[in-house]
Amino acid sequence: MSKCLICGCSISGQSTLMQLLMISPDKKKICDKCRQQFIKIGSENRCQGCGRQRGQYCADCQRWRSLTGFLLANESLYQYNRAMKQYMHDYKFQGDYRLRHVFVEEMSSLVTRRKPDLIIPIPVHERTWQTRGFNQVTGLLEMEVQTGLLVTQEVKKSAPQSSKTREQRLRTKQPFKLLQPSVVSGKRIVLVDDVYTTGRTLYHAATLCRQAGCRQVWSVTLAS
Ligand SMILES: [Zn+2]
Ligand SMILES: [Zn+2]
Repeated sequence: MSKCLICGCSISGQSTLMQLLMISPDKKKICDKCRQQFIKIGSENRCQGCGRQRGQYCADCQRWRSLTGFLLANESLYQYNRAMKQYMHDYKFQGDYRLRHVFVEEMSSLVTRRKPDLIIPIPVHERTWQTRGFNQVTGLLEMEVQTGLLVTQEVKKSAPQSSKTREQRLRTKQPFKLLQPSVVSGKRIVLVDDVYTTGRTLYHAATLCRQAGCRQVWSVTLAS
């Protein structure tokens, strides 16, 4: 008998349908009720940049393309709704590492689908790592990933975000450093993050990969 990782209810007994489908109830990490709270991003009308259902090229992505000269083909699994925000909070800020099991299989298969040469998770800051004890992105993946390649670097604090224009926010200083750029050269790379919000983090990381001469770079996130 297993318990739902989110609400703690007992899962066995409600898995009649799952048993009919020959799926072992042990494979279920959360109950159906909790599962229903997470909304998948549909495949229709997806933006070629961010992967959201906003038409072929949404306004944000058009802006990214003119700023950076490229478009990052992002793919996300779920909408960043209330349930997902709560999940992220419990997983990241409460540091409940068991919660990675809820999405680890789906994330791993999405990441490997396009058969990348390298999988690079967005790193967390040293201080975050020390308090949390894990990188929430790496926790969502069950295959070998490149952890020491992309690292955070100190960025001097400038004016607070709210006092900047949207354009200035998008143009913020590079928060990452790519160690051993030669490893990235000529490779097909997938960057992985937990949430796609403005896209800024991923565009910064992708820019470094492109400067290092990667063959292709795209990104995958759990939510968007
Ligand atoms: Zn539940
Ligand atoms: Zn878009």
